[in-house]
Amino acid sequence: MVTGKAHRLGILGGGQLGRMFIQAAINYDIHVHIMDNGLNTPSSAISNTYTEGDITNYDDVLNFGKDKDIITVEIENVNVEALKQLAIEGKKIFPQPVVLEIIKDKGLQKQFYIENNIPTSNFSLTNAETDKNELLQKIPFVHKLRTGGYDGKGVEIIRKPEDLKNTFKAPAILEELVPFEKEISIIVARNEQGETAVYQSVECEFNDANLVSFLFSPAAVSAEIEQKATTLAIEVINKFKMVGILAVEMFLTPSGELLVNEVAPRPHNSGHHTIECNITSQFEQHLRSIMNFPLGCTDMVRSGAMINLIGEIGHTGKVRYDGLTEIIRRKGVHVHLYGKEETKANRKMGHVTVALSELSEAKKVATEIKDLIRVISES
Ligand code: ADP
Repeated sequence: MVTGKAHRLGILGGGQLGRMFIQAAINYDIHVHIMDNGLNTPSSAISNTYTEGDITNYDDVLNFGKDKDIITVEIENVNVEALKQLAIEGKKIFPQPVVLEIIKDKGLQKQFYIENNIPTSNFSLTNAETDKNELLQKIPFVHKLRTGGYDGKGVEIIRKPEDLKNTFKAPAILEELVPFEKEISIIVARNEQGETAVYQSVECEFNDANLVSFLFSPAAVSAEIEQKATTLAIEVINKFKMVGILAVEMFLTPSGELLVNEVAPRPHNSGHHTIECNITSQFEQHLRSIMNFPLGCTDMVRSGAMINLIGEIGHTGKVRYDGLTEIIRRKGVHVHLYGKEETKANRKMGHVTVALSELSEAKKVATEIKDLIRVISES
């Protein structure tokens, strides 16, 4: 096993996912080098080296990759052409650039599902020229920007003609509105040998801004649905032949059908609970898969309820966490702050996992603490 300075692992993106990845890499004494815009990111203070650069810029990515052995990402929106060049030069890039290229464009991603017989909602492509009457006929539908959207930004649910003003005048996909019963997510890992390991499914609840407000692990689904979802998640990562971890978001319909909504080829918000609730965290698993180490056991050791700590609307400026002392008195509460100095409306500032043996108990505590903790600005 190559560790320490001997192996140079680079990550494009220095947000909270990079930060928690570093926390896992430290245990293996693997040195992590980060590039992102701005000098003050969640990872900047804890990476071995930090390069200020634009992860969407060809030259910046190429230069960053030159002296690395292995490169990964914590966000899909990176310069894929530079990664392809680095792969030609012999660098290991996981997830592979071709996978990133498909996933970062929701149009190509949906097309991939169709070509590979992966169940997904029906869709069509739209752009700035798409006729308004054509859109009117399709109501209700979900409109999504093909590239650049994240955390619900770039997604509009169009239920009535008045909502058409919210549609995107840019390359987008138009999806049938799925009347889902639940949104579940499964994280699956694959290493270079093609070994896979899959976590139990989790259930997500979203707020009005489309951010995960609660996550529950395990999801309350039948054994049959769990088996189906597990098989589907493994099928998706195998079809991509991807190395790394993949979060597969699915809709469960009232008739028991599972439709893949979208995937993220990296650690994901829906896997944060694995730090305390599973034998191997999603961050360690990502590391193991891209380093071609044996994959870790994904068994759940505790049930979990996770809440995101999101900047309160109306508060912008230096962050203050009200109620933190109160919530950590409770059994099973684990706090993760991402080190962001400034809060603003709906900014993800941290998360809290309640890890307990009974999910009902964890849910109860999570619901109580959600009202006790506030992410506000100082003045
Ligand atoms: P993002 O990349 O921002 O996470 P998603 O594609 O996951 O975007 O969409 C955000 C949310 O919008 C989903 O979690 C779901 O609640 C809702 N949504 C997305 N697509 C559909 C759909 N086809 N039918 C119903 N709801 C949808």
